[in-house]
Amino acid sequence: MAPVDYAVVGGGIVGLATARELQRRRPDATVTVLEREPEVGRHQTGRNSGVLHAGIYYEPGSLKARLCVEGMREMYEFCEEHGVAYERTGKVIVALDGGELPALDELERRGRANGVEGLRRIGPDELRELEPHARGVAALHSPATGVVDFAGVARALAAELEDVRTGAAVEAVAPRQRALELRLADGDALHARRAIFCAGLWADELAVRAGAARDPRIVPFRGAWLRLKPERRDLVRSLIYPVPDPSLPFLGVHLSRHTSGDVLIGPTALLWPRRPGDLTWPGTLRLARRWWRTGVTEVRHAALRSTLVADARRYVPDLGDDDVQPGVLSGIRAQALGRDGRLVDDFAFSRTERALHVRNAPSPGATSALAIARVVADELG
Ligand SMILES: Cc1cc2nc3c(=O)[nH]c(=O)nc-3n(C[C@H](O)[C@H](O)[C@H](O)COP(=O)(O)OP(=O)(O)OC[C@H]3O[C@@H](n4cnc5c(N)ncnc54)[C@H](O)[C@@H]3O)c2cc1C
Repeated sequence: MAPVDYAVVGGGIVGLATARELQRRRPDATVTVLEREPEVGRHQTGRNSGVLHAGIYYEPGSLKARLCVEGMREMYEFCEEHGVAYERTGKVIVALDGGELPALDELERRGRANGVEGLRRIGPDELRELEPHARGVAALHSPATGVVDFAGVARALAAELEDVRTGAAVEAVAPRQRALELRLADGDALHARRAIFCAGLWADELAVRAGAARDPRIVPFRGAWLRLKPERRDLVRSLIYPVPDPSLPFLGVHLSRHTSGDVLIGPTALLWPRRPGDLTWPGTLRLARRWWRTGVTEVRHAALRSTLVADARRYVPDLGDDDVQPGVLSGIRAQALGRDGRLVDDFAFSRTERALHVRNAPSPGATSALAIARVVADELG
């Protein structure tokens, strides 16, 4: 069989957006997506907070900052054009006391530097107008932030592509004379002139099989949510977020109203070892030494519903233990971790022969997917 021009491994939002971008740039090229699951968007893409981030949190000049701001605009347009459910709900990031104001200042500085539309500092009265049940000494209001059905985006992207093969798990990667051979679990093989790996939790494994360095390794962090009972959904109008710890890539437990009408509380961020070696990797040990206190809090959040509710109640005092029910969703974040114990903050890529690997695409990876796809296509030339 003649090789395809491009094989994209991984039918999550990043792989699908990449395949679409390549197909649009080179309509004559053959582009094949290989996805191991029976349908696209089953992993992080279909199991996340569903928030279209506006670009507030990220270090100015980083890829996350640029691609989130660009990606959000493009994603709103995409949803409008393709009839995917979305809502520009706006969001508040709330400081609970004076001690959190310097961190809120820093978020405001970053948001402005990143060009976030409409970002504004507000006081307690305006906070109450926007979110009548929320309390805090100050907040940032981002009117551009919204919610979206990312799984719906993945399906709409797949529908535009000519060749999406599901149930196609790539097991081995071998350079051949004029192409890369991608061997599949069912014994079949696909030859591709270029391959782009967008494999989320499996990104490091596949990169290593293709000849890349082991560092960084993907460490999984599980996120789970609680849901407000339908009769208590009026406690939250849109999105209520805390001021996050700036040294961690997670945004903290928040309350969020979704396109379905559900109001979620979460997600947790619990280290969730998946493979032998995840816990004994020097990076994980260093991470655990540095963040053991945060780890203990996360274990409590995951194990005890009441601690997660108590955390959220700091922002919405009327929230009671009986106002929640278990969430239906949980998702595993694919977060890259260096051997030195540092969580890789920015989006990251690496190369092997004839291949490009997306090595780190955590949040806001779904928001940024259409913009990440452009960067990948530019990299391929
Ligand atoms: C709890 C949580 C909350 C989040 N909240 C947000 C949010 O509010 N906003 C936001 O923008 N982002 C959020 N994110 C991040 C976002 O979900 C990810 O950045 C994004 O989905 C990454 O997409 P992806 O395509 O890289 O990965 P994935 O969706 O994980 O897709 C990878 C795909 O590769 C496939 N694959 C893997 N190995 C192989 C193989 N060997 N052969 C074939 N296929 C393979 C998998 O089956 C999978 O479908 C959140 C993530 C989580 C987990």
